[in-house]
Amino acid sequence: MHTYTNFRWGLSGERQEMDVRDGRVVERRNTLTNVSSASDRVTDLGGKFLLPSFIDAHCHILPTGLDLNKLHLDGATSKEQVLQMVRDRHRSQPDGWLIAVHYNQTQLEGGVHLTLSELDSITAERPVLLEHVNGHACVANSAALAAAAVTEDSPDPAGGTYRRDASGRIDGVLLERAYEHVIGASPMPSVEDMAIAIVEAGKKMAEYGIACASDMSTGFFNLEHELMAYCLAAKMGSPIHMRLYLQWGQVFGPRAVPKERLAELLDAVAAQPTLRVDGIKIFADGGISSATAAIYGKYQTKNPPRKQKGPTERITDGQLIYAPDKLNMMVQTVHDAGYKVAIHSIGDYSTDLVFDALERTGEPHRHRIEHAMILSDSQIERMQNLNCYCTFQPEFLLRLGKAYRLQLGEERASCLIRSRSVLDAGIRVSMNSDRPIVGGDPWDGIAAASDRPREYDPTENCTRAEAIYCYTAAAADVNGDKGEMGDLLPGSLAHFQILESDPLAGP
Ligand SMILES: [Zn+2]
Repeated sequence: MHTYTNFRWGLSGERQEMDVRDGRVVERRNTLTNVSSASDRVTDLGGKFLLPSFIDAHCHILPTGLDLNKLHLDGATSKEQVLQMVRDRHRSQPDGWLIAVHYNQTQLEGGVHLTLSELDSITAERPVLLEHVNGHACVANSAALAAAAVTEDSPDPAGGTYRRDASGRIDGVLLERAYEHVIGASPMPSVEDMAIAIVEAGKKMAEYGIACASDMSTGFFNLEHELMAYCLAAKMGSPIHMRLYLQWGQVFGPRAVPKERLAELLDAVAAQPTLRVDGIKIFADGGISSATAAIYGKYQTKNPPRKQKGPTERITDGQLIYAPDKLNMMVQTVHDAGYKVAIHSIGDYSTDLVFDALERTGEPHRHRIEHAMILSDSQIERMQNLNCYCTFQPEFLLRLGKAYRLQLGEERASCLIRSRSVLDAGIRVSMNSDRPIVGGDPWDGIAAASDRPREYDPTENCTRAEAIYCYTAAAADVNGDKGEMGDLLPGSLAHFQILESDPLAGP
């Protein structure tokens, strides 16, 4: 047995010591006097602070790993700067598709998108794609469009747009399904390359003190290959535990992986001690920065308001991915199959429909709602009654605030992510990153939740201790790992981090 003594518990400052055997906590106590006689090793931590390792219960592990090798455009503040970065990358890495990530036109001087012809001025032969940080749009050059067989005569795909200039020509800005179609033409990594990317993403997260992460879109590219890659990554020694949420359509839809094959793959996952499939992911709406989250009222930027049919006519805006009946059916299917469902819902209109769907299952407490960024008081009360899990991504407030204010206006944007109200209601909320959309350092999220940037309502601040709890014990709970990790209570995995300074005192 290994005893760690003379540390301060990061959530209270109390002096403690902890016995660990075979990687699990035997006891953690508030006294330093009785180092157990069974201890064969004692480590004096000299008054440093100790916390459970973080758990990132909503992120995208494989995409994080794949993005590590792409050109990162964060920090660019002008079109010229973006073009220079693309030009440099084109010279230094001349082969294959040139894919850049974290493109965000709202951070650029003037706030307008780059265009196809600007990218073509660097290269028109090699496909170039700038992926928007919100994951719902990109800018492509003509070689990328050609690779996806898109021509000037191509009609917009259902649920997507090839934006056109005043003369009617495609200008390179691709929205939603149009973006997915073109990026779909880029070469797919092999299972082995995916596994390497997963391990690399895990290393990056481990550097942030994260010991377990949930991939919230397994099957986004190809479920069969991705499950094989996650198994391989676990075998290769991924430094973190991983929980997987499978895309609904890949499990239940018409293009689902055949049942017998899926069963085989799930058996292979179950054989890996650090890996588990924990649920099914459904997208109910889009995002705020692209004006596709389904909200009551309207966005300030575009989309003529739509009247919602029915007895209570309210104006709504944005995009429901599924009609309510379809969403109800999808949620019930997951529930009946015994899985947990995790539903992406950002707008308040969408969230009402998600609540309806969860309520119909009769056991809403088993399921989770992801993001829930816009919540009214009555919706918080309803969530409290449903007792479903809720996950927040506070780092969004630091990175995407400009776009939120642009779309929603200052007042509405200021109330996003109501940590204080949701915690006061006793809702089981966890906090997580959604990387690779953001950098994903949990300390950034903790700071954003406990000391909201000045554009946001400060009465929704939680305490640092609460935010740390939301990144550890509460995150274990939403992942189905309560008692297994996140609290360093007896019996749990001894995943911990040692800190030089008091985590409650600020950065
Ligand atoms: Zn996500």
